[in-house]
Amino acid sequence: MVNFDAYDIGSHRLSCPACSRGPRDKTLGLTIEADGAGVAHCFRCAFTESYRPERGAPLTTPSKPRIKAAAPTAKGSD
Ligand SMILES: [Zn+2]
Repeated sequence: MVNFDAYDIGSHRLSCPACSRGPRDKTLGLTIEADGAGVAHCFRCAFTESYRPERGAPLTTPSKPRIKAAAPTAKGSD
């Protein structure tokens, strides 16, 4: 969850709520438009969240589930 109200109009960089490894790990690009709408996008994990002030609540756009490469199946166990 991104607290869009905490940021001024413009572009910001902040830590991603989904994949952040710490407060200095700022992979989330946040843009606040002049009308107060905001959009955040993480360039690492593709987390996306948008905010429309007229709706009164942030809309979270769930990122599409990624198909993970199948791990090699270990046959048998030692
Ligand atoms: Zn992320």
